[in-house]
Amino acid sequence: MDDYFNAGMRLYLDRMVDWEGVLGLHRGGAVDVAAEVESFRLVLETAAGLAKSFERPAREHWTEEARLTADGGAEPPPHIQDAYAKLREAGLVSLPVSETYGGAALPLLLNGMVLEMISRADTSLMTIIGLQTGAAGDIEKYGSEEIRRAILPRFVSGEIQACMDLTEPHAGSDLGRIATRATDLGGDRVKVDGQKIFITNGGAEAHLVLARDADTYDESKGTTNGLSLILVLAHHADGSRNGTRVARLERKLGIHGSPTCEVVFEGAAGVRLGEKGKGFRAMLDLMNNARLGVAAQALGLAEAAFHEASVYAHQREQFGQPIVKQPLVATMLVKMAVNIEAVRALCYHTYEIVDVNVARERALAEGSLSDAERAAHAATLERDVVRARLLTPLCKYFATEVCHDITRDAMQILGGVGYTMDSDVPKLHADSLIMTVYEGTSEIQASFALKEMGKGALAVVFEKARAELGAMASDPRRAALGRRVLGMISRVEESTKVLFSDISYALLRAKLLAEMVIDVLASTELLRQAGVVAARLDVAESYILRREIEGDAMARRIEENVAGRADRDARVLALLGAGRA
Ligand SMILES: Cc1cc2nc3c(=O)[nH]c(=O)nc-3n(C[C@H](O)[C@H](O)[C@H](O)COP(=O)(O)OP(=O)(O)OC[C@H]3O[C@@H](n4cnc5c(N)ncnc54)[C@H](O)[C@@H]3O)c2cc1C
Repeated sequence: MDDYFNAGMRLYLDRMVDWEGVLGLHRGGAVDVAAEVESFRLVLETAAGLAKSFERPAREHWTEEARLTADGGAEPPPHIQDAYAKLREAGLVSLPVSETYGGAALPLLLNGMVLEMISRADTSLMTIIGLQTGAAGDIEKYGSEEIRRAILPRFVSGEIQACMDLTEPHAGSDLGRIATRATDLGGDRVKVDGQKIFITNGGAEAHLVLARDADTYDESKGTTNGLSLILVLAHHADGSRNGTRVARLERKLGIHGSPTCEVVFEGAAGVRLGEKGKGFRAMLDLMNNARLGVAAQALGLAEAAFHEASVYAHQREQFGQPIVKQPLVATMLVKMAVNIEAVRALCYHTYEIVDVNVARERALAEGSLSDAERAAHAATLERDVVRARLLTPLCKYFATEVCHDITRDAMQILGGVGYTMDSDVPKLHADSLIMTVYEGTSEIQASFALKEMGKGALAVVFEKARAELGAMASDPRRAALGRRVLGMISRVEESTKVLFSDISYALLRAKLLAEMVIDVLASTELLRQAGVVAARLDVAESYILRREIEGDAMARRIEENVAGRADRDARVLALLGAGRA
């Protein structure tokens, strides 16, 4: 685990991914796959070396906060600015941008690995780098050619940074309550007025703002219709400020180096990205990208905590031996390590699907396919978009919840030292706590996943999982575990019969269902890994045997607790005083 470019990443780079298929579609025509993979390796090795060098300064300066600047902006503390400058110099920002605009067109899977390494070293820095990818992706997808040519090279060079301006005092999870106003100035030009809060890196030059169109303002209020996605640059071409300012910075429990800003827009000039009134759809692309980014962030942070705990457990002696020899400590470490691999399995699997989807979209748009090829790619794309829509919130949910548990367990393994600021683990735990909240809380992710399942995505992902598990017959131990996972699938299907007959009960149980589905998909991917590296069968078995029992318990809770549950909950809250001032 000490190596930032770790064995799990190498497994996907070298063995798991069908690069020929992905790159063939992505780049079109013949591709020198071996040369491309070597160039990916170089990116990952460079990122690993740099990230490792950021780790010590990040821990030592952990309490340092972002600052307001004299010209109405905000900036992170010096150690983060230094690290950003080094990443910029190495060409490691905005890696997925297309070559047309100067980018490396790096697959999202590999970009996710880079984000994971940066987060392991400095989670605050990662918030800044992570936003670049999603914002650049949205500009590339929805911006006019003129905007792309003007802005994207500046992202790639790292000259400008981005932020994502959604949240307002009355619009948190419920973006239908957005009140920021976008008034048309002619063509795609608009004027933005409003107040955004909790904006990560809100001192950035490029703001992607979700705002309500002025001419449908009243009738669209309370819904996500009538919203537009606007690109606002903080400065005019002459260097003067463009009606934006950071009004204040939040003081937080963790990620101190990440500027969390209140941003005020007063007649700021911007341009609409994508269609008028369809901004929520465009923002969902950015949010989905950011959700996978937060999953990578959580994975990197969990690795950092596991590493701290593992080193300590080998060094700290009690009762005449290192504490790692205590079964209760060892089993905590095993659970941490296996859960990290399960998160990795789900996330990398998802990144791979998204990469193939992007490549297929490009191949279909370019028009060099035969009719039969077009039809086949279009059908597969349709299926895999459904898979990605379900998997993305599940990745965010799973990675961030696991990260929270791992950083907390790391504190436990360090005992009293783990509660002091002489150690690093409390910092990691404090940083982890935001991840189940921003980019949509865990409750919102579970509700999104439930909605996708209700629309048929569950059947689609299970059909694929069944096919993969069915193909594992050659190795008896792997096949036996595969049968257990097939049993877990049947268990989920039985539970959904109860759930989907009553939507309010389904919402109440959305997290349990999400976890059961995550277990199936992560287990399937861990078994797929074991087909490539036989030693990984122990990891898969460890996860599957533990989660199968949890799955049974969750299914029983769903199936046996239906009648009167919501009414009883209401009575309990009333009896025990909830809602009293
Ligand atoms: C450090 C930090 C950085 C952030 N960065 C950004 C950023 O860059 N850009 C940006 O736009 N925003 C950002 N945010 C805002 C963040 O995305 C929101 O805080 C988050 O989405 C939750 O919204 P809220 O705080 O209003 O909570 P609320 O929406 O008020 O939710 C409060 C509680 O109610 C639950 N809840 C609400 N609705 C439902 C529902 N339908 N079903 C089940 N449970 C529900 C939530 O899960 C939560 O537990 C950031 C926030 C922080 C703290």
